[in-house]
Amino acid sequence: MSNHLYDGVFAPHADSTKTFLYTADRDISFAEFTALTDRIAAMLVAQGLAPGDRVAVQADKSVLLFALYAATVKAGGVYLPLNTGYTPAELDYFLGDAKPRIVVTSNAAAEAITPIAARIGAVLMTLDGDESGSLSEAAMQHEGPFTAVPRGSEDLAAILYTSGTTGRSKGAKLCHRNLRSNAEVLREYWRFTADDTLLHMLPIYHTHGLFVAGNLLAMVGGSMIFLPKFSADVALEWMPKATSMMGVPTFYTRLLDHEGFTAEASSHMRLFISGSAPLLAETHRQFEELTGKAILERYGMTETNMSTSNPFEGDRRAGTVGFALPGVEIRIADAKTGAPLPDGEIGIIEQRGDNVFLGYWEMPEKTAESFREDGFFITGDMAVRDADGYISIVGRDKDLIISGGLNVYPKEVEGMIDDIEGVLESAVIGVPHRDFGEAVVAVVVRQDQGLEAATVETALAGQLAKFKQPKAVLFTDALPRNSMGKVQKAELRKTHTDLFA
Ligand code: AMP
Repeated sequence: MSNHLYDGVFAPHADSTKTFLYTADRDISFAEFTALTDRIAAMLVAQGLAPGDRVAVQADKSVLLFALYAATVKAGGVYLPLNTGYTPAELDYFLGDAKPRIVVTSNAAAEAITPIAARIGAVLMTLDGDESGSLSEAAMQHEGPFTAVPRGSEDLAAILYTSGTTGRSKGAKLCHRNLRSNAEVLREYWRFTADDTLLHMLPIYHTHGLFVAGNLLAMVGGSMIFLPKFSADVALEWMPKATSMMGVPTFYTRLLDHEGFTAEASSHMRLFISGSAPLLAETHRQFEELTGKAILERYGMTETNMSTSNPFEGDRRAGTVGFALPGVEIRIADAKTGAPLPDGEIGIIEQRGDNVFLGYWEMPEKTAESFREDGFFITGDMAVRDADGYISIVGRDKDLIISGGLNVYPKEVEGMIDDIEGVLESAVIGVPHRDFGEAVVAVVVRQDQGLEAATVETALAGQLAKFKQPKAVLFTDALPRNSMGKVQKAELRKTHTDLFA
């Protein structure tokens, strides 16, 4: 049987007149989406796209952009979305590394990208958020139907660059099997059907919005309210039409801060899912208190798609990411040896399964370093499994602080600081220190501007071992975050690197 991602995810819907995508200015049926996809696929092939060629794209979210993804896969190409925040200088690296056949950028960026595209021999096309540009003009010259170009299970369907907080970004190679199998697993685990309408406010250059949300809803023949970006106001306008939402934790904190978000406003919603960054246990509790619904938190990464999830039925536990998804083998392992650790001990999450990527694009050494001999991928996420089997993430291994030779897990300290009255949130980092190697430093965002460092220090003194207590408590207006809501600890470490110099 074909394991083609396109066939599995975008196969024709039984009712082709049904709306697939709702947007602010038009509704797109399944038939219209397929017709658009076919035009683009035919155009890509006419531009010289051969099976396995990359289509690198940096463009604002639109229906046409989503169809470009489907079309690339249908035409046998490899879709390579790039964060819209990257500058032309950064694109220079990505494009030189990935050597795409076709590059798609906004009209505004085209001038800066032209010499780069010329250097790598790529065709440059433009696409803006309003769908104008040379790509749509060229696609309109073509007509479907377009028959999917055959690809095997292990052939690449996409390359997504990891955010690369240390060193160069790496291109994660994702094959048809990886993406298709994950959508199939999520469909069953989260009970998605054609009756679902997902509120889609995530970017589509990232695994969350593109694959977790996009592939899943296309696969079940559901609908998406497909909006350019998140705002609590707009979410509340559209929510009456939705049955489900996927978001990063900030979506949920912003909804909770909005006075229009009530139990009634969400009473018809069957599922709220959170991921891509840790959801504070406090947010989980506040949300449940207000709406009577428990947010379902799951965990995954670009390299592994979705790996663990809280249960659909049963206890969705705050502060945990649940259990390994069906078909995903997870072990919490000793960082050095890879030996599995008993429940209750902190180790590195390692995983194996159809979900796990093939390796890093043109980085055989990095790839080899990232896998154990038995095929398990070393994620770099540190976690602990409790006696009931629930997994909790305690942070990235590179964020682990070693102070005076002792391990300090930032999450433990952050959890205690966040519980102090007057604290909104915090990030705990290690900075170089002559005596200790690294010193624990807390960067705190206050709710109560009168809160003093000494109050935080006193509150922690009674609860935490001395070596875990911050050597400095600093205040800031906001923590640096990337577009998926992840706190950028590398940036914080850089800012405060000379604190004890
Ligand atoms: P990305 O590749 O951009 O999707 O980032 C993946 C990383 O995000 C993972 O390796 C985790 O460190 C983090 N992450 C994703 N989901 C969660 C979650 N539910 N809780 C904590 N961290 C998460």
